[in-house]
Amino acid sequence: MSRVLVTGGSGLVGHSLHKYSDWLFPSSKELDLLDHVSTMRYFDNIRPTIVVHLAARVGGLYRNLNENMEMFHDNMKMNLNIVQACEQYKVTKLIVVLSTCIFPDKCEYPLDESMIHMGPPHHSNEGYAYAKRMLEVQTKLLKNTKTICLIPTNLFGPHDNFDLTTAHVIPALINKAVNNKTFNVLGSGRALRQFLYVEDFANIIHTCVNWEQVNEHELFICAPNEEDEVYIEYVVDIIKNHVGIDEITYDMTCSDGQYKKTASNKKLLETFPNIKFSNFEEKLKDTINWYIK
Ligand code: NAP
Repeated sequence: MSRVLVTGGSGLVGHSLHKYSDWLFPSSKELDLLDHVSTMRYFDNIRPTIVVHLAARVGGLYRNLNENMEMFHDNMKMNLNIVQACEQYKVTKLIVVLSTCIFPDKCEYPLDESMIHMGPPHHSNEGYAYAKRMLEVQTKLLKNTKTICLIPTNLFGPHDNFDLTTAHVIPALINKAVNNKTFNVLGSGRALRQFLYVEDFANIIHTCVNWEQVNEHELFICAPNEEDEVYIEYVVDIIKNHVGIDEITYDMTCSDGQYKKTASNKKLLETFPNIKFSNFEEKLKDTINWYIK
């Protein structure tokens, strides 16, 4: 019988997995991944067979710009500890989460799984990106553990981080729209993004936990269809209309980050044809309603 351990269970993705009630969700106090000794002690006590590693120092564009070094340092440290614990305690399957924002800044589109290391990432998030790229390398080198690297596009949904100083774009926009009368958007609104609803990602993780034919090392981009990529100004419009705001201003002096990161879900859907994606507009409105409540 497998024993599934999830790190980072209190975050956006972690919350979406709580419905799998027989999985373990230790808090960062019970399992502090920055602490090597306590990580090893925790694994020694619990002896998980499958690990879903979500924990990370995560943030939106402006947190990455401000904390590039801390992003590299903390994520490298957490990932080294978890990979080493999986090796030492003979975990059979490790699922880790990378991100499409770690791909090279300049490359062909759509992005596919073979392109992660093909050039430098966008300067805005090089600390986070290089640490995640190294996680791909670390997992490939594991000898006795099968590894799956999931590479999601921007995620959104209930239990996201809505703090304006560290949030990703959707929760930051929702917070501003709901709490401020004026709606000041940082950047031009012309960047393109594919947004994945967190429950759809939870379904992919659950499918991978139960996947028996897994090879030694697998990578899957987790993205909605390429034609569902949207301009940030489209997201702004939905939020504006749903919340009921009259005026929007765009602050063109702020960075847009990488212009686009169009990613292909071809391999994911060929391997798991039953994966479905929710309607973006509907789930965005659900997320706004959840935040307002
Ligand atoms: P999140 O909401 O920011 O949650 C981060 C989680 O990591 C929290 O549960 C936090 O626990 C935990 N954590 C932080 N430091 C820790 C430590 N030292 N020891 C143990 N746990 C620690 O993150 P998320 O948005 O759910 O992201 C989950 C994964 O998906 C991450 O690996 C992220 O890089 C990746 N990802 C996210 C997005 C996105 O748009 N959100 C997109 C692509 C990839 P505490 O609350 O106790 O600190």
